Amino acid sequence: PQYEEPAEARRPDITYDDIGGLGNTVEQIREMVELPLRHPELFQRLGIDPPKGVLLHGPPGTGKTLMARVVASEAEANFFTINGPEILGKMQGESEERLRQVFTQAREQSPAIIFIDEIDSIAPKREQVGGEAERRLVAQLLTLMDGLEPRQNIVVIGATNRVDAIDEALRRPGRFDREIIIGVPDQDGRREILGIHTRGMPLGEDVDLDDLARTTYGFVGADLSALSREAAMDAVRRILPGLDLKKGVPAKTLEALKVTREDFDNA
Ligand code: ATP
Repeated sequence: PQYEEPAEARRPDITYDDIGGLGNTVEQIREMVELPLRHPELFQRLGIDPPKGVLLHGPPGTGKTLMARVVASEAEANFFTINGPEILGKMQGESEERLRQVFTQAREQSPAIIFIDEIDSIAPKREQVGGEAERRLVAQLLTLMDGLEPRQNIVVIGATNRVDAIDEALRRPGRFDREIIIGVPDQDGRREILGIHTRGMPLGEDVDLDDLARTTYGFVGADLSALSREAAMDAVRRILPGLDLKKGVPAKTLEALKVTREDFDNA
């Protein structure tokens, strides 16, 4: 049998259309991050320093990481990620070295965004600091941020679920002095997010996204994404018994395959 190589998997660029339910938050982040990265000359002309650090805070799964990736993609900036707990787990001295490395790379490849996920784990309030490791790491982070020059075209974005657990020194002017709340979406927001995650799905006529948005109170983006994926998998399971897995799926079956209301209910 002939075996066809799958086409090269290329990840399309993500855009502001891939993030839903955040209303004017997108505008805020564009102004704080994209604008200075793209047009530093505006800020130079006015004699003001663009923000060095922006804190995104809100419950898990609301799109903080997604937002940071999207803004990097839209600003055509290189994206560097640091994961708080992961970097903290390194050997003594190694975590600071890793931080320095990331900042050096970002400087060499600017415009750049450095994204620090779960920043509260490396920069907890002093009184809550358990160990020496966190203290050294915060000190290193502060030194690196203080050393950033506006013309270097780097923005550091920190994400946290617990904004009040962060060392205040981090939130002083010139550091993470801007904050954006990424909240739990309301019904309209959920509708928008459901629209995004079902964009590529053939939906049955009985699927009413408005109704789904109404009945998914409390769901965040990550939940709605999982719901849509699970519903699609349910549709696959429905046709599975009639399939010969060694053969391809007949075109007719493929064409008839739709994700139905029942799939969403099951999901
Ligand atoms: P955590 O605090 O757990 O790191 P987070 O806020 O960074 O969560 P993401 O990792 O960005 O959340 O979200 C996980 C996934 O959920 C995203 O990749 C995306 O598929 C989906 N998602 C979350 N929020 C949204 C949103 N507002 N619009 C569209 N999709 C979303």
